[in-house]
Amino acid sequence: MKDIEKIKMIYEGKAKKVWSTDNPDFVIMDYKDDATAFNGVKKGTIVGKGVVNNTMSDLMFTMLEKNGIKTHFVKKLSDRETLCRRVSIVPLEVIVRNITAGSMAKRLKIEEGIVLPRPVQELSWKDDEKGDPLINDYYALALELSTEKELAEIHGAAGEVNRLMKPFFDGLGITLVDFKLEFGKTADGVLLLADEISPDTCRFWDKETGKKLDKDRFRRDLGDVEDAYAEILSRVESGIEG
Ligand code: UDP
Repeated sequence: MKDIEKIKMIYEGKAKKVWSTDNPDFVIMDYKDDATAFNGVKKGTIVGKGVVNNTMSDLMFTMLEKNGIKTHFVKKLSDRETLCRRVSIVPLEVIVRNITAGSMAKRLKIEEGIVLPRPVQELSWKDDEKGDPLINDYYALALELSTEKELAEIHGAAGEVNRLMKPFFDGLGITLVDFKLEFGKTADGVLLLADEISPDTCRFWDKETGKKLDKDRFRRDLGDVEDAYAEILSRVESGIEG
């Protein structure tokens, strides 16, 4: 493929910029060090986060692609930039949980750290102004956020991603607690896994020490944030090489 040129910034989110290119079917993701939590109320910087999240997402998407998951990933361009298929994002955040934590523990008034006998899938309406409210399949269909066929595909793919990622991280000495996925549709209607897979979007607990190696260190002011991001990336890199 000939080199693709960045044209203009078409979107700036909390953690990434998206650039159009000279090919309408492709965009460039550009990962920032900016960190936000609690729907943008807490703001900060995690030095090097953009590099970690870009590198890690590319490794994860490559692993998933090898195992039959269709993703938007095309090619890593630099430390912070990745070429991706252009998609329109389905306005749903799909959360998969293996262990209770975060908003689930809070909402249900149960402890964090309970191993669920089977994974849970949750949907949120991806809308910052509304605070990404929790919904379910009936809402997603009634609000026309997605079709029945897409939802079935999304739940199937999210379950499969969990079945692939859980043992992958377990082999690195890490418990995959929960994670968030986003899906998008190409111009010709193909559903692809999109966005990122990183310590910003997953909860990772060290199996031996229980240490959190993810964005909860930032959300909860636990310190050692940069080190934790570097640590998870280095384990993923060793897992992919090994
Ligand atoms: N998550 C995310 N973006 C969001 C909300 C959640 O990436 O806007 C991820 C979060 O990092 C965690 C999982 O989804 O790995 C479940 O998050 P939860 O619902 O517990 O929300 P939180 O406690 O982060 O408010």
